[in-house]
Amino acid sequence: TTLEDTLLASIRTIPDYPKPGILFRDITTLLGNARAFRRAIDELVHPYVGLKVDKIAGIEARGFILGGAIAHQLSAGFVPIRKKGKLPHETVRVAYSLEYGLDEMEMHKDAVAPGEKVILVDDLIATGGTAEGAVKLLSQMGADIVAACFVIDLPDLGGRRKLENLGVDVRTLIA
Ligand code: 5GP
Repeated sequence: TTLEDTLLASIRTIPDYPKPGILFRDITTLLGNARAFRRAIDELVHPYVGLKVDKIAGIEARGFILGGAIAHQLSAGFVPIRKKGKLPHETVRVAYSLEYGLDEMEMHKDAVAPGEKVILVDDLIATGGTAEGAVKLLSQMGADIVAACFVIDLPDLGGRRKLENLGVDVRTLIA
């Protein structure tokens, strides 16, 4: 089976979650499937094996799971990007747009040094508002953003283009 078939078959779609009319793509079933999880991680890391990557920045919460596995495979460090108020040390903070309104996300001030090579990771890109916020935080820290990686792209929502317009190399496994 192709990678795409394996991934598509392992992702569950939940209608009307978290709100009526939304089709939620549930990746817990992918994470729970040993073969699908391994193949997804192998495919995400593939272009970067043997390159120097200092840090993987994962977006709360599913980006932590994927990002941890990717960091281990690339022998890179892991940096959490979290919703405001969750990180214990001094942080940098950015507002980002949600479907309705704004929220804020943070990372530790000392988590990335200027010039470090960082790959941003999350499970899914939709409007790109979340990833754009993360890119702004990493840019503020002087990170060299190697790429932003996602398992799933929802292309109709334009997030990929939004990130590419910021000059970020975007990598997704399925649309
Ligand atoms: P965006 O900011 O690109 O509109 O939304 C992406 C963010 O919302 C990501 O952090 C992602 O985890 C979450 N998200 C939005 N829709 C879905 C979905 O259908 N499935 C999953 N797993 N996450 C979603």
